[in-house]
Formats: sequence, structure tokens, C-alpha cells
Amino acid sequence: ELDSLDTLVSLAKARGMIYQSSEIYGGLGAVYDYGPLGVELKRNIRDFWWKEMTQRHDNIVGLDSAIFMHPKVWEASGHLDGFNDPMIDDKQSNKRYRADMLIENEIAKLRSKDKAEKADELQELLDTAGSRNGVCEDLYEIIMENEIRAPESGAFEWTEVRQFNLMFKTQFGATSSGDDGDDAVYLRPETAQGIFVNFKNVMDTARQKVPFGIAQVGKAFRNEVVARQFVFRMREFEQMEMQYFVEPGTDGESYENWLSERLDWHKALGIREHKLRTHPHPEDKLAHYAEAAADIQYEYPIGWQEVEGVHNRTDFDLSQHKEFSGKKLEYYDQQQQKRYVPYVIETSIGLDRTVMMVLCDAYREEEVDGDTRTVLKLNPELAPTKVGIFPLIKKDKLQDLAHKITDELREDYNVLYDESGSIGKRYRRQDEAGTPFCVTVDFDGVESEGEDTVTIRYRDDMTQDRVPVSRLKEVIDDKMSS
Ligand code: ATP
Repeated sequence: ELDSLDTLVSLAKARGMIYQSSEIYGGLGAVYDYGPLGVELKRNIRDFWWKEMTQRHDNIVGLDSAIFMHPKVWEASGHLDGFNDPMIDDKQSNKRYRADMLIENEIAKLRSKDKAEKADELQELLDTAGSRNGVCEDLYEIIMENEIRAPESGAFEWTEVRQFNLMFKTQFGATSSGDDGDDAVYLRPETAQGIFVNFKNVMDTARQKVPFGIAQVGKAFRNEVVARQFVFRMREFEQMEMQYFVEPGTDGESYENWLSERLDWHKALGIREHKLRTHPHPEDKLAHYAEAAADIQYEYPIGWQEVEGVHNRTDFDLSQHKEFSGKKLEYYDQQQQKRYVPYVIETSIGLDRTVMMVLCDAYREEEVDGDTRTVLKLNPELAPTKVGIFPLIKKDKLQDLAHKITDELREDYNVLYDESGSIGKRYRRQDEAGTPFCVTVDFDGVESEGEDTVTIRYRDDMTQDRVPVSRLKEVIDDKMSS
């Protein structure tokens, strides 16, 4: 079991999965790079999602829209006015915090000290706090009246609480910087809007009838105020979203279906069921556009946290874009001879948070012959390397056959030839990388009468079988699909 985030961060770095961005320059906050093993793991998870959401559904099609979009998009979507976090600065240390999170921490502290009444009172204040002209006086008052201090320094010299827009802004063309002219463009903070603005294009060209869905995977950018939880909260991350367009009135049922389908997907990914839960948002906490919403949460070492959101977004987005663009974003139902703006059920999952979930869930430390073995018990389909191939020692005969096997298997699987170090060390390296199969070529196998044989070792229980080389691929295919 993984008990701390630090363990994961070290493993991810040591195994070449995830590095801090621009590390040689001291790193860049909340931005990460995926190394050789990480990029494979991430791609396998992305493919697993894509296959489930598009290939397995006749009525869901893919899209890859650009990161830059017309500035009007963000007016229509409400992001320009409303995509804010309340921030506050500790004047002494100049550190920035999210005011709502400071209060939430305080509430958690009160609960742990059995001060439920006081905690409820603060929660009520937090839930009803408002802001005016970008300033959140209510939150400021809660912080001052309850003497909430800065978590690290304990200081109590706060600035006012201001709304901070999470969108990154830049501009097109060679204009002077700093002006707020028409040429301001934004890095998209979610992939969903690319789907909404292409709704009509897809409907007209992909011959889809409602209900149908559009799926997309791509980068999103948010200038997060607090970003200290590894790839859980990043400033540049990847989303996998699907917007499902339905007839109004059928949205409730569709929402329930998608929530349960998505939970099943997490289980199919190999995540242990007791580590997963759905968490419906109470009605009074729904976003202004949502009719219903739930998180799918995983129990990370940092607690239960959202991996995916499933939302009933009503006809909010299409209606907004209809109004702002003046285009007819409607659907004409031939059979019923009626025209309507479809409702949208959205499933939205963070790819990086999923990578983190998969790593946390697969991590085990086991006692083996008085030693500790670290192993990633990954779903074989997700494993970055599928087969490690080792000649027992560096002798031509063994190396030649190991190379031959490597060349044969690499057409179907990501494989790794390794001849350095003791065989035990080579197994351990692959255990840490989550490689489900290791094949060892030894003298028993090449010098015996009859056909050549090798041993195949299974990651999870470390048992070994001797199999003829001619049957090796069949054995691996079989295990991969079981
Ligand atoms: P949170 O409340 O945790 O900030 P959110 O409710 O703002 O998340 P959504 O806007 O619903 O998240 O985005 C959908 C998904 O995108 C989330 O479930 C999450 O997996 C992922 N996501 C959102 N923000 C980030 C981020 N900063 N870094 C990594 N993944 C993110």
C-alpha cells in the first residue's frame, strides 16, 4: 500500500515516469513532464478511454479541436466572468492561498476536535459567501473573525480576498503587450467548449442523430492558485471529455446511465472497488448551469478526491453559444417533427489524475525472502513495458535467442531486452516498472533435446513456467486477454 505522496513522487522520478518541468532550472510550479515509462502509461490509459468511449459506441465520434479559440467563446461559456478562485496573500511571507481552502481546513480542524457546531456554522458562512466587483468581503471576514492563520508560517497579516481568474491570457500577432484589446486570446481551461462550438459541424457531417456524443482528449490550462499535490493539480494538464447530446426529458436517465458506465470503466481499468466511490453534489452546491452532478472519487494518499466529474449541463452551453454566435445550434427531430436545443450529459476526467490513481492503486511493497520488493501491479493492458527479455548470462547462444524473441514480440508488444546485472535485479527493475511478464533464456532451454524453451515469470505471484519458444507469443496473448 502507498502511504504517502512522497513515495510516489520518488518512484515516479526514479523509474522515469514523471519529472518536474525544467528541473535543471529549479523546476516550474505545478508543471510536469512524462518520461519514457510515463509517456507509455499515459498513452495506454488514453487509448483505454478512447476505445471505450468511441470504438465501443456507434453514436460517439471523436474530435480534436484547437487549444486557442475565439475570445467570444469564453464570454459565452461564462469563464471570463465566473471562472475564478478567491485568493488571499499572507503579507509577511508573500505566500498566496485560496481563501475558501483556508476556511475548509479550519472546518476540518474543528471537526477533528469535535467542535461540530462551530464547524457547521463556518460551513454555512462559507456556502453563502458572496463577492462584489472581484472582492470577497465575506470570506475575508470569516478569516479575520476566526483568526485563521497561514498554514506554514502561522502569520496573521492578510490582504483582502480577491477573485482570481484561472484562465491564462496571451495575445495574437505582434501587438504591444499589456493592452486588453480585441486580440486577447486564452489558453482553454477545459476541452468541452471545443465540442460545443463544433456541435453543428459534427451533426451536419457525421450523420449522427440525437442521442449522440462527441469525445475529445487534449490539453487544458488553469492558473491554479494552490498547486502542491504532484500531478493532482497542475497548471497544464490533459482532459478526456465526452459530451452526450440528448433530448430534453431524457437527460435524467442518461445522466444516471453515464455515471454508472463511467464507474464501471474505472473498475475495468483495474482500480480496486473499495477505493472508488461516487459523490453526488448536493443541489444547493451545483454550478449555475447544472441540473445534477457527481464526482467519481478515488482514495489517494491525500484523501478522497475527484478523478472524474459527470454533469447534467442542461441546454446551458448550446443556448449560450446560440445567443452569442447567432447560429442555430438546434436539432430537428425528423420523426417527431420537432426542433429543440439538446441537453448535454458530460463526463470529464483528468488524464494526469488518472495516471496518479493507477500508480497509487498498483503500488505494493512485499516481503520476499527477507527483502522488500516494490511492485506495480498494473493492469497488463496499461503496463508501459509488457515483456522483459533476458539472457541469463552474456553468452552468444543465449543472447542470440533473446534478441530473436525480442524482435518477434516487438511487433505486437512494447518489450525490453536487458542483459545487465543479476537476474534477480533485472526482475526487480521490471517489478517496479509494472512489467507483467519476464522471459529468461537459459542453457537448460537451448541445450536440451528437441525444441528451445524459455521460462516466463509472472509479476504478481512471481511463479514461473517453462514454455517452448514457438508457443511463447500464444501464452502471452492468452494472459494479456484474460
Ligand atoms: P477540482 O475541484 O479538483 O479543482 P474541478 O471540479 O474544477 O476539479 P472540472 O472542472 O470538473 O474539475 O474538470 C474535470 C476534471 O479535470 C477533474 O475531475 C480533474 O480530473 C481534471 N482537472 C481539473 N483541474 C485539474 C488540474 N488543475 N490538474 C489536473 N487535473 C485537473
